[in-house]
Amino acid sequence: MTNDCIFCRIAAGEIPATIVAENDQAIAFRDLHPQAPVHVLVIPRRHVRSLDAADDVGELGAVMQLAAAVARQEGIADTGYRVVGNTGDDGGQTVHHLHMHVLGGRAMSWPPG
Ligand code: AMP
Repeated sequence: MTNDCIFCRIAAGEIPATIVAENDQAIAFRDLHPQAPVHVLVIPRRHVRSLDAADDVGELGAVMQLAAAVARQEGIADTGYRVVGNTGDDGGQTVHHLHMHVLGGRAMSWPPG
């Protein structure tokens, strides 16, 4: 837990969030500024700065497994969805706690901006 990390504080229940699913190692909650009809963030409970700092394959697996479970739960698994992990400055990462965006409910374009 890092006190100045907003996602750590959500994981600790100190900041409100709409939590939609969780497992032993990860939590999923709705993005505050949704970019698609379904926009959920999946984070490890433990503070991990970014994908570049990820050092636990089991924990990463738990994050990705929860992302897929959220997509099924939100009803977008059949139509399709996108999982995005912005990493570092050029990747557009603004919150420095590893998170996967689960986006769906509309067709996505490619390439991303
Ligand atoms: P990124 O730019 O990939 O680091 O994504 C950070 C995401 O966190 C953005 O989509 C924000 O809208 C979202 N966000 C920031 N603060 C909160 C919050 N308190 N609750 C939910 N989502 C948040």
